[in-house]
Amino acid sequence: MEVGECIAFKTHSALIFHYKHKQNEENTKMGCMIMQYQSTRNPNTVVSSSQAILRGLAPDGGLFVPQSFPKADLQAWRNLSYPELAQEVLKGFLTDYDPEFLGTAARNTYGEAFGGKAGHLEKVHDGLYALELWHGPTCAFKDYALQLMPKLLVQAKKNLDCTETTRILVATSGDTGKAALAGYAGLEGIEVEVFYPNAGTSEIQRLQMATQQGNNVAVYAVNGNFDDAQTGVKQVFGDSSVAEELEKREIRLSSANSINWGRLAPQIVYYFYAYFRLAENGAVEWGKPVDFCVPTGNFGDILAGYYAKQMGLPIGKLVCASNRNNVLTDFIRTGTYDARRTFYKTTSPSMDILVSSNLERLLYHVTGDASKVAGWMAELAAEGKYTVDAETLAAIQKDFACGCADDAQSAEEIHTRYAADHYLCDPHTAVAFCVAESARTAAPMVVLSTASPFKFPRDVLKALGEQAPEGDFAAMDALASAAGCEAPRSLRVLKEMPVRFDRTIDPADIRTAALK
Ligand SMILES: *Cc1c(COP(=O)(O)O)cnc(C)c1O
Repeated sequence: MEVGECIAFKTHSALIFHYKHKQNEENTKMGCMIMQYQSTRNPNTVVSSSQAILRGLAPDGGLFVPQSFPKADLQAWRNLSYPELAQEVLKGFLTDYDPEFLGTAARNTYGEAFGGKAGHLEKVHDGLYALELWHGPTCAFKDYALQLMPKLLVQAKKNLDCTETTRILVATSGDTGKAALAGYAGLEGIEVEVFYPNAGTSEIQRLQMATQQGNNVAVYAVNGNFDDAQTGVKQVFGDSSVAEELEKREIRLSSANSINWGRLAPQIVYYFYAYFRLAENGAVEWGKPVDFCVPTGNFGDILAGYYAKQMGLPIGKLVCASNRNNVLTDFIRTGTYDARRTFYKTTSPSMDILVSSNLERLLYHVTGDASKVAGWMAELAAEGKYTVDAETLAAIQKDFACGCADDAQSAEEIHTRYAADHYLCDPHTAVAFCVAESARTAAPMVVLSTASPFKFPRDVLKALGEQAPEGDFAAMDALASAAGCEAPRSLRVLKEMPVRFDRTIDPADIRTAALK
């Protein structure tokens, strides 16, 4: 195996890598599987799981993918609690972590913080289920990854003897910023700085960030829209003078976005957990397939379902649901990925994406050909589009179905699900319900519900045909009385919490903030 690329990594990785090899040999003798990761663009870039999590992106610009899929032991796993199941799934992928550490991390993550509702499955009507992934601290599914990954990152640094400070910069349109703050707050050796557009988030989203506790966090409003904030942060990442200056202080910049393997792996767990609950309730015969419909942006959540299927979970179709930014619908139908199109701001903002980064991982898995993938990604960068060959498209269509719904359809779906099934959902989940209907097979359908409806109270109220008050908190109260249920506590208390961060900066000042 080539390790040249790994040794090129900074800090003590070269030494550690040799050490890890020794340990790996011993593990192999004991019959344990060792999972290695390689770049989607170069099979010779091979790293351990700790390195994949610490580095995020491969040096060649590719994403790290596991070299094989661990086999699930469905019978042994079917009665496990959510944290126990998480430990089993993660054990197969994160083979240079101590299994006991993974168990403790999973217990500390998916217990109280999720109100005892990790992996909660709700029946909507016969054959249709909602996997509610928003019972975590920030009320969006990103908590599943961002509550666990920080612990994995801290441990990766220990595994690799890395003592430098990791400074995480996040440009956010809302959900990711808060989930990252909540996940990394208070962790040793890690700092988080979040940049959000001054006029681009809801009042609730802004307060979720501005009231964040912890002395390793900082939050800035940036004059401009999301693109201005994101461009400013990207410039800082690409600025070698920033890296040099920080290196003198033993600080290294990192990002928290969803291309990191540490964000993907935790999401595999809930597909298994949902299947086991359906089997337990007799909604699916053991071993028979279940379909999943996933509201998709960066293709991370749905890709986790693909991994679950490769591990042996009986999944029929994975249905990729998009909003009006339907670049993935077109791709899965035609094989052409064309990002040269109008960008629409929708009522499901976390799906407003034209370049779905994690699709690159799927392309690698279905082709097994890194040079092909590197070629397509180069075309995308240069021309804004690429077309896969017929064989690759057929392989994708075997596992994936797709569809899209615009804001009006999503709003109508919120209304219909509430009127017909008394089920209240947010605009992202509604897009998936819409698409799920058109993609139904004989199998039960599970829709991944990715955000609490109370995160978007004004849009949800309007969809229900109610008057929406101006302020988010008034809207939250109005929605609670209209729907006869309470808003999540973590959102209600925001109104009373002290604002810690109220600085607004210009995009040009992001560099100074990153160097502070
Ligand atoms: C991030 C997000 C999505 C999209 O998930 P991807 O993994 O990026 O595909 C969908 N819904 C909500 C509420 C989100 O926050």
